[in-house]
Amino acid sequence: MKKFFALIICALVLNFFVPAQVQAVDEDALTASVENFYSTLPKAKGDYKSRQRPILIQGAMNIETDVLIHALKNPVAYRELNYLFVAGTYKNYPVVVARTEIGLSNAAASTALAIKKFNPVAVINQGTAGGYLPSQDVGDIVIGDKTIPSSAYKTAYSPEGAGIDITQQEMRGLYAFDTASGNFTRHGEFHCDTTLFNIAFAVANAHENFKVVSGTIATADTWLNSVDYINFLHEKYGSSCEEMETVAAAQICQNAGVPFIGIRVISNNVITGENFDVSSAKVAQDFVLLVVENYIRDVLKKISEAC
Ligand code: SAH
Repeated sequence: MKKFFALIICALVLNFFVPAQVQAVDEDALTASVENFYSTLPKAKGDYKSRQRPILIQGAMNIETDVLIHALKNPVAYRELNYLFVAGTYKNYPVVVARTEIGLSNAAASTALAIKKFNPVAVINQGTAGGYLPSQDVGDIVIGDKTIPSSAYKTAYSPEGAGIDITQQEMRGLYAFDTASGNFTRHGEFHCDTTLFNIAFAVANAHENFKVVSGTIATADTWLNSVDYINFLHEKYGSSCEEMETVAAAQICQNAGVPFIGIRVISNNVITGENFDVSSAKVAQDFVLLVVENYIRDVLKKISEAC
């Protein structure tokens, strides 16, 4: 008995003195988890077949997809041009989880392949992001009412030797299909699907454990550590956070006429000095699973009952 109490006291004392970073999530373990799980999954043979159109949920990295993939029932793995997709069901509705890999062109390629292969009824792009406001803490959620291409600029003319002023720029946008004109035209921003937005907000209101705001998700193949640059982008374009995939997925969804929303969790914030926290990726996935559950119950099941 004495030994038992001594052990407990030792554990408490040790816990007290162990610095916080020792308890941080092991990124290698998280990265391995999807690869290990993937190797155990049945590999798809032939085409994807489903009576109902699946929901496609995207994340760029293992840490952004592991919770989602493990939530699927009867998962089957697909690889297309080396992009990973896992198809299964969630709440008795077909769901496909895509690991898009990092960056705009990967996100675009993965989205286009998934739209062709799985014919999704909606696409949710989710994952980590860097905060643009001092009020944003790691773990906060941003529901993207819109997303912008944060590198699609045209700079003002300046002669040789005049120096570089990044503030002298105008948004040019990305070329996306415009149904009205039947052409690819420039888009400085992409708005999310309103049904998905309303559902995401209803989930936020019903679950006070998540701190949620709506905002503009800024996408570029860059990682900004300059607070002045971040403040400039926030002031000029209203950007709430930055990451590397959302706008590319939104662009392809617009081309294909598929409803889209981006949902991001703040994983780091240069302004507050918070470094990338791997464990934040789970928060976005937990939140997105609730959005998906509500979307299935309130929208998709009602549509299939009416048919
Ligand atoms: N562990 C990886 C982290 C990758 S960061 C590494 O050490 O390189 C790039 C990914 O994180 C992208 O998928 C992007 O969407 C997301 N991301 C999170 N915070 C970001 C930030 N502040 N700026 C740009 N991308 C960010």
